Amino acid sequence: MGSEAEVKIPREMIQMIFESARSLHPKETIFMLRGKTRRNEVAISEIVIPPSATYGKGFASLPLSMMPLDFSVIGTAHSHPSGSLALSIEDLNRGLGKIILVAAYPYQGKDNLAVYNRKGEKLRLKVT
Ligand SMILES: [Zn+2]
Repeated sequence: MGSEAEVKIPREMIQMIFESARSLHPKETIFMLRGKTRRNEVAISEIVIPPSATYGKGFASLPLSMMPLDFSVIGTAHSHPSGSLALSIEDLNRGLGKIILVAAYPYQGKDNLAVYNRKGEKLRLKVT
């Protein structure tokens, strides 16, 4: 997934992520993302809540051994209660799939969202 790729996400999924982020704040929320990838396009079609034991404890504590071996998982989404849109080293090390979506406090709109590939390069985000 190169840095020229575009990620498409339905508006209602962004709202789900924001709502969860707000209700768990100041803890992190995390989701797995399912969808389809083509050469230069990622289309997110489904949001999956990870195993309950990890929920709300933060992205860095996500135990990869508990993740289903599921190749339709194209990436993850998590919140940054700090308000920063920048990826941490842990984010890059613990990423799953091809993309990492970050929702930053105050979880209001597109300005509080960023999506990256696994190299940490920012990708274009298109709300559909
Ligand atoms: Zn993070």
